[in-house]
Amino acid sequence: MKQDLNSKSIDKNFKLMIISALVLVILFIYTIYKSKTVIEGTTYYLGIGFLFVLLILAFVLKLKQEKIRKLINKDGINSFDTELAKSSSKVSKNELDSTILPVKSNISFKDVAGIKEIKEELEEIVEFLNNPSIFQKFNVKLPKGVLLVGPPGVGKTLIARAVAGEAQVPFFYQSGASFVHIYVGMGAKKVRELFNSAKLNAPSIVFIDEIDAIGKARSGKSNDERESTLNELLTQMDGFEGDSGVIVIAATNKIEVLDDALLRAGRFDRRLYVGLPNIEDRKKILELYLKDKNHNINIEKLAITTAGFNSASLSTLVNEALLYMIKNRKSTLDESDMEVAKNKLEFGKKQHKILDMEQKEILAIYQSCKAYISKVKVNLLDDSVSKINKVFLSYNEMLENIKRELAGNVGLELIKKEKFAIGEDAIKRAENIALEMVEKYKMATSVDEIIFSVKESLKLEFSQNIEEINRLKELMLKNEVINKDDL
Ligand code: ADP
Repeated sequence: MKQDLNSKSIDKNFKLMIISALVLVILFIYTIYKSKTVIEGTTYYLGIGFLFVLLILAFVLKLKQEKIRKLINKDGINSFDTELAKSSSKVSKNELDSTILPVKSNISFKDVAGIKEIKEELEEIVEFLNNPSIFQKFNVKLPKGVLLVGPPGVGKTLIARAVAGEAQVPFFYQSGASFVHIYVGMGAKKVRELFNSAKLNAPSIVFIDEIDAIGKARSGKSNDERESTLNELLTQMDGFEGDSGVIVIAATNKIEVLDDALLRAGRFDRRLYVGLPNIEDRKKILELYLKDKNHNINIEKLAITTAGFNSASLSTLVNEALLYMIKNRKSTLDESDMEVAKNKLEFGKKQHKILDMEQKEILAIYQSCKAYISKVKVNLLDDSVSKINKVFLSYNEMLENIKRELAGNVGLELIKKEKFAIGEDAIKRAENIALEMVEKYKMATSVDEIIFSVKESLKLEFSQNIEEINRLKELMLKNEVINKDDL
């Protein structure tokens, strides 16, 4: 917005200069014409000359205004950066939220532990921002938008800030909710302001957290304000070229509620799934947080017993343990501090789903059955299911997709001889596919019949391969992941 104001005032001043110069020239010519005989000396001619110089200057400035604007903006950011550098290294979301101003990110990939695959994917964007000419030479366009999908506290914001930090470009943080207003047009105006500011500061990163607040699918019920905000976002994303240097990163927990238009080519066409940290990730995160601390914690063991923690709660865990250590006037962090912190988190106000060995085994069986049927890599803490994805699915392919969704529940019931309250989303998705088969495509007559027959075939398949499922379960318990090669 600061830059916006700058550019607006430049424009206004140039226009005023040109108009006043023109008016004065006309006035002088008119005076000379009217009173040729009265004019004596050279002052009048000097005056005219001066005005012509002014006029030419105004034109030159007008032509070069882009360059001047960039110069002013650069200064603006630099002074802003130093201000920020002075402030604390971690800027809270609320602070970032308050205005549409960029911040300088001092986070780098080093500060993001684990999630190696996500980092690798995003490195390409850093490369582009650092070295756009290579990409432009080969006429390669980068995606304009990257959508990070995953539960809260797994580092989506952190990684976006790390991209900005690595590329040393301004970072614009906005939460989706901050665009939601009561008055029609306000949200759209804010979207426009955000993109204007980002373009003026390009190359830059725009990060929209919880984009579902604006990007929810347009339902039957009309909500003019949200629709106008969403439309503006779509227009803005269409309005800049891939090589403009503005990269939009958005985060959501619920991709399924997003409007299809947002996911279409040329918008958020790259999607990255960030799941709960697996055992290796947890080890790396704990190592990072305990790096410069005096401790005798067995990180390996702690990583095993914190299955179900997200990255943010691991950081809270270490912090709580340190607080307890200080309270007890100790100088080394030990297992007892960790135990107290863990109990506090477990029974505290925030409900953390911590998995003990019994619960972990249930989840491991569920996920192993899923991996066995889908034949793809599955993480212990991953709730997505890999499905056949084609434009025109056949009847059998739709049945196969239902099978993949229900594999966990059916396998678990068969092995443990009991039903468990697990996988509700997968069950819902399976029912939705069956419903589509019945109502949309008239492939079958009853949802219940489809689900029943899929379950029967799963039961048969699992009962003939119990040993294999058990092998996979042991692998899952050990590594918290089953890779394609293990299958
Ligand atoms: P999300 O955007 O997914 O909700 P955040 O990026 O806001 O999660 O993460 C919250 C906090 O958790 C971060 O500020 C950071 O302290 C910690 N954190 C999350 N992921 C990681 C990670 N991979 N490595 C180190 N710390 C992390």
